[in-house]
Amino acid sequence: MTSTPAFPSSPDEHLLRENTRATLRIQSRMLAATRAFLTGRGFQELLPPVIGPVTDPGIRGSKQVDVDFYGHKYKLMTSAILYKQASLLAFDKIFYIAPNVRLEPLETAVTHRHLAEFHQIDVEIRDARREDAMEVAEQLVAYVVDEVVRELPGDLELLGRDTDAFREVVQGVFGRTTHKEATADLVALGHPQDPGAEIDWQGEEIISAKSSRPFFVVDYPKGSRGFYDREDPGQPGVLRNFDLIAPEGYGELASGSEREHDYAALVTRMRETGENPAKYGWYLDLARRGIPASSGFGIGLERFTRYVTGRTAVWEASAYPKVPGVVSA
Ligand code: AMP
Ligand code: MG
Repeated sequence: MTSTPAFPSSPDEHLLRENTRATLRIQSRMLAATRAFLTGRGFQELLPPVIGPVTDPGIRGSKQVDVDFYGHKYKLMTSAILYKQASLLAFDKIFYIAPNVRLEPLETAVTHRHLAEFHQIDVEIRDARREDAMEVAEQLVAYVVDEVVRELPGDLELLGRDTDAFREVVQGVFGRTTHKEATADLVALGHPQDPGAEIDWQGEEIISAKSSRPFFVVDYPKGSRGFYDREDPGQPGVLRNFDLIAPEGYGELASGSEREHDYAALVTRMRETGENPAKYGWYLDLARRGIPASSGFGIGLERFTRYVTGRTAVWEASAYPKVPGVVSA
């Protein structure tokens, strides 16, 4: 990773930096490659909603932003998960490039990986298993990295990013470990990882730094994720989900899962996760009539860009960065 420049005092200071321009050129190419990869495999791109009566509650410590919608309390999307499931009524394979707003806790301003506004490459596949979604995520990451390495070597060089780092990424399958194994490794390394919780960003950074290639962590425990991650019928308390972790300390790139779509199970899971089902009117109405089974994932675009470009902080991968608590353009 290169050293972090000071947070810019104005948009022009940021945008006119040579490093910012190279990073954003690479990001633009990553988006074009993402669209080429997914549409080439039969995925339909839809534009995601920005506001709605409810949004993804599975965002742990961060807060949602309310919008006054003609006297009704709407939310800015923290993620488009509920709409991804709904979209599969019309199309078998969909993706969005979706903006998300999450008021992350103030202490995350210094993690180098949290923005209050970011984007996800959001993918959902009807009648797919978790393993199908993992394969698409793996191939998508390899395709995008390969295209950047081939097409923009000058920008990578300008940023000091050694393209050898990617040689292993574009070849072969990514490894996988379970949440249980990752927790045991972290505890053995002296990191106090709770076996019943999401791996915190410090823990992700530790396991990420030990690897030279991306890898999956699967089987997160119930209670660590949103109500829409499906519980494994063969392993009660374990979810059919995954994270994709970037190597070299860059940490989490994506989260995904097989989805819960059964009406009664969704209501139970909402209650278990402290959500009031009455708030989810349109979504539960659809579920009662039948939402398709599916699997999918969301890759954080700025985090993916940070990894590809080797930048120190994720805000360097945004044209108009919003760092938690920092007033900016
Ligand atoms: P999540 O649903 O929280 O797993 O978010 C999906 C993906 O979005 C993550 O795997 C990250 O790559 C990205 N992401 C989540 N929160 C943030 C954030 N505060 N800033 C930047 N990227 C994020
Ligand atoms: Mg996640």
